[in-house]
Amino acid sequence: NASRQLEIKLVSYMGNGRLLIARDVTQTVKLQRMRRDFVANVSHELRTPLTVLKGYLESFQPDTPAEQWHQALPVMQQQTQRMHLMIKDLLALSSLETGEKPLMHTPTNVGQLLKVIVDDAFHLEHYRQQPISLDLQSEKWLMADVDELRSAISNLVFNAVKYTPDNCPITVSWHSDNFGAKICVTDQGEGIEAKHLDRLTERFYRVDKGRASSAGGTGLGLAIVKHVLQRHEGELIIDSAPGEGAKFCCHFPLKKLVDKIDV
Ligand code: ADP
Repeated sequence: NASRQLEIKLVSYMGNGRLLIARDVTQTVKLQRMRRDFVANVSHELRTPLTVLKGYLESFQPDTPAEQWHQALPVMQQQTQRMHLMIKDLLALSSLETGEKPLMHTPTNVGQLLKVIVDDAFHLEHYRQQPISLDLQSEKWLMADVDELRSAISNLVFNAVKYTPDNCPITVSWHSDNFGAKICVTDQGEGIEAKHLDRLTERFYRVDKGRASSAGGTGLGLAIVKHVLQRHEGELIIDSAPGEGAKFCCHFPLKKLVDKIDV
């Protein structure tokens, strides 16, 4: 198999013969490459905002005119915020990946949670008057870790806000049937080409790097969604085509559904 990597060693055998030992190191090499790429990506992502901050701090003096400080401060705040978000997402992702955080699954009122997330979206920095509608078709509750679920769905709603033009409608829906349940976030933005779909949940993968970073993304949102869903035995299904918007659905197995609890 051409894609396998072998480590080959020639050793002496019983004093007189020679033995050729081949070891399959494909997985080790792959892990080493992933680790290298990850460090390179994080360094690159943090270097950009740091370079901007460094530039200002080095060129500015105490006697720099107030007008220049006024122009620089919002940029410096924005870049600091970007680094802060990046580190927050990296820590969240790492704790999800290592599984060190115990699962805290409790009966969760999905409808109520989605309302809170949608309300938050109206206050987002990049919010551009898109109407966001809630389509709650199920009364069922979900056994879930509320904080993790909130962070996953927020990422999807915030992405819909980031990657759709002004006034373009967004829908957040909750549906269940005899097979399972799903939370979907649908937008009518520019959509995504099929060749990218499989890679969107990779850390730092972006369709349009320039646009994504100017929209304030860390490139880690969908990786977080994928891990949260794995921890809920669920799955993220993305359906999109250029010019036809995008639909991100979080599917959950039937066993995670519970009847609503009256309080
Ligand atoms: P980011 O922080 O860059 O938004 P994500 O992991 O959340 O990172 O998303 C990865 C990439 O997927 C984004 O950079 C963007 O190119 C694409 N993407 C995500 N959501 C949408 C969407 N609703 N419409 C179009 N593209 C999207």
